[in-house]
Amino acid sequence: MHSCHTFVTTVRKPWHASCDGAGTYRGSRHAHIGASVYRCIRAAARRGRRAGMPMELNATRSMPGHGWVLAACLVLLMGLFAALVSTTQLHPDETREVAMTPVADGVVRMSFELPTAGDRRWALWFPREPVDRLQLVGPDGWHSEPLDFFKVGDDEGILPAGFAFLLPRDAQGPTVLEAHAEGGLHGGLRPVLALSPDIRRIERSGVALGGAVYGGLLTLAALALALAYASRDRLFIGFFCFVVALVLLLQAMNGHLYGLPGVRLLGLWRLQGLSALTLVHAAATLWLVEAYAMRGRAYRHARLVRGIGIALVALAALFLLNLPWLAQASQAVSAVGWTMAGIAVIGLLVDAARRGVPLGWALAGSAAVSVLAGVWVALSRHGLLPEGPLLHYGYQGAAVAFALLLALALTQRIGDYREARDRDRLARLDTERKMRREAARADLSTALQTQLNGLDPGEIPWQGFRLLMDHLLPLVPTESCIAVLRGYQGRDHLLVEPASALPSIEHEINRRGLILRRQATAGLALQQPVHPSAGGPVVAMEALVPFQVRAPGWGVLLLRRAGGDGFTTDEMSVIGELARVVQLHVDQAAAAVKLRRSAEMDALTGTMNRRTIDVWIERTFAEAERSGRPVSVLFIDLDHFKSVNDRFGHACGDDCLREVSSALRGVLSEADMFGRYGGEEFIAVLPGRDGAEARAVGERMRTAVENAEVRHEGQRVRLTVSIGIATRLRGEDAPAAAIARADKALYAAKRQGRNCVQVAPAVFS
Ligand code: GH3
Ligand code: MG
Ligand code: MG
Repeated sequence: MHSCHTFVTTVRKPWHASCDGAGTYRGSRHAHIGASVYRCIRAAARRGRRAGMPMELNATRSMPGHGWVLAACLVLLMGLFAALVSTTQLHPDETREVAMTPVADGVVRMSFELPTAGDRRWALWFPREPVDRLQLVGPDGWHSEPLDFFKVGDDEGILPAGFAFLLPRDAQGPTVLEAHAEGGLHGGLRPVLALSPDIRRIERSGVALGGAVYGGLLTLAALALALAYASRDRLFIGFFCFVVALVLLLQAMNGHLYGLPGVRLLGLWRLQGLSALTLVHAAATLWLVEAYAMRGRAYRHARLVRGIGIALVALAALFLLNLPWLAQASQAVSAVGWTMAGIAVIGLLVDAARRGVPLGWALAGSAAVSVLAGVWVALSRHGLLPEGPLLHYGYQGAAVAFALLLALALTQRIGDYREARDRDRLARLDTERKMRREAARADLSTALQTQLNGLDPGEIPWQGFRLLMDHLLPLVPTESCIAVLRGYQGRDHLLVEPASALPSIEHEINRRGLILRRQATAGLALQQPVHPSAGGPVVAMEALVPFQVRAPGWGVLLLRRAGGDGFTTDEMSVIGELARVVQLHVDQAAAAVKLRRSAEMDALTGTMNRRTIDVWIERTFAEAERSGRPVSVLFIDLDHFKSVNDRFGHACGDDCLREVSSALRGVLSEADMFGRYGGEEFIAVLPGRDGAEARAVGERMRTAVENAEVRHEGQRVRLTVSIGIATRLRGEDAPAAAIARADKALYAAKRQGRNCVQVAPAVFS
């Protein structure tokens, strides 16, 4: 047999995981764990296998440096986006220089040189800015169709990237045109002059880019719904609303919203609608980030943050009233509101990042980029900052990146929830297990207290260990359970469950006796594999729990489980605990019996003492009265015992008392009672014997003492007894009168010269 091997590998971070000799990896979550932890557990498993104990390893190694891999993937996505953006720009060779001269508010004169273009036509293209009306007017009275940002024309396509104007077929050489813009924001109108196929190309690229951005965001929205469904977390519904608000805002800013069936009605609100959407998006972002970053914790600026959110929504509602006097101010107000919300979001995220909330710094950085880009776009629309062609899309890219990061961060939260839930579940299971264990312990204690009481000392251990098995086996299922005790309370015990296995187990225990004894005296609970033959396969695992038995005795409890399934640490401790409880009760019960006995017995002669005899004699008389049977009482007194003490000493006197006691007892049967009544007086109670029979017994007693060989320093000590006998009279259910008669008969015997037997007449005169 092998001794037990236990390998425990415990790791705290990132998840608690342990691997023990029972063969199972345990963890609060069988999970992706760090490389070093994984190596550690794998090494423990290898050691276990080498020791012939197969060990299951339920851990998967996590992706090395997964933070960096994620960042690289994000950069790749951004690169792809930038590549897409670059396709929306024309090469400088493909465009013509346009000289711009402001003429009046909203009127710009554009002069340029048009080379011959063959059968192709030139076109002027403006990025789509929120203007109510844009029209080109030529000096010769030519004018283009007017275009409206808030109302996409039927021939502009669903997702127009800009305002495109085809120049007259005959336009050639130096040309002057005026752009008339009305309403909205026209500070950012920068024309691009190119051949119409090139303009169509960048228009198509713009459509593709817009499609990619909206598609990506809508995918995130769908994902948010799926996660909301899976995790039942309201936060994902919040994320869904945030993404939808972002899509609507971007579509509105790009002018695409006003070409879509159903939502194109929003064009009626013009700039104010756009401002309202901006504010709604800002409020949605603020609320979502607050819910994510703060997770319901109380913080100093909570009121301010929530107040900003409510103010933004209230402003948005105000703009939707479409009050004409608000039209001009709405853009500035919404830009300020949006920026404030952005700053609050960055503040919340920085605070969260400091507290170690996942992806906090990445989110804060991405939010800062989005806010900066947004502010830049807003200022450039008012002509306060130069507008780069990439800025428009860069802002959208930053917004999408922020949404993506937020999605990642929220998904990470599901992991946190799971972990918390697993932890709760484990804690609950642990509590239940402890309660079950406590209940079993209490049940066992009660059973032991009631059932060990009043048992014969020889039966106490047997009954106790029987109860141990009855209470232990439902808790720790096993194929067999064996309790072996050698020299425990002066006896050997072997209990086997199931009893049918007793013959084979008896043989096996005898064979293993020496080893078991060594393991028992080592005092350590352990488990070991059971091999039917040396070097053979493991057929079972055996838990061995020693009992506390005073040397040279020993005892063990053996539990067996078929196959390689070992006992868990918890099971081992339950077995040990219940075994201790049983042993404690068995020892206590045995000690109590001993104590009781010592109180009932006479210390010198080992026979009953007077108190016990009194109790028994009462019972015997009451019983005899019920059954109408005779009872005889014999009073026995040593003759001249004082002189024995005087001649040979007190110690010799004690020896004599012991000898006389055993000589007298030897005459009596099992049914008779005998005890020392006090000093050198003995009493015998003979149920069922009348006076004549009692006299015969008394005579035998007298002779037995007379013939007893008591020697002191080589000299024989002669001892005799006088005996007085009384028999129960009809109607006597108490012994007092009979005892008095026997006493009188004894005195009569003494008076008669001692060493004789006297039977009391029914009534002494
Ligand atoms: P008799 O009964 O024949 O009249 O004479 P006796 O000498 O036996 O009578 P008595 O009752 O006067 O003396 C009893 C003696 O028994 C007194 C005491 O020394 C002795 N005795 C009583 N109990 C013990 C005991 O436990 N040990 C010893 N060694 N002697 C005891
Ligand atoms: Mg006496
Ligand atoms: Mg005497």
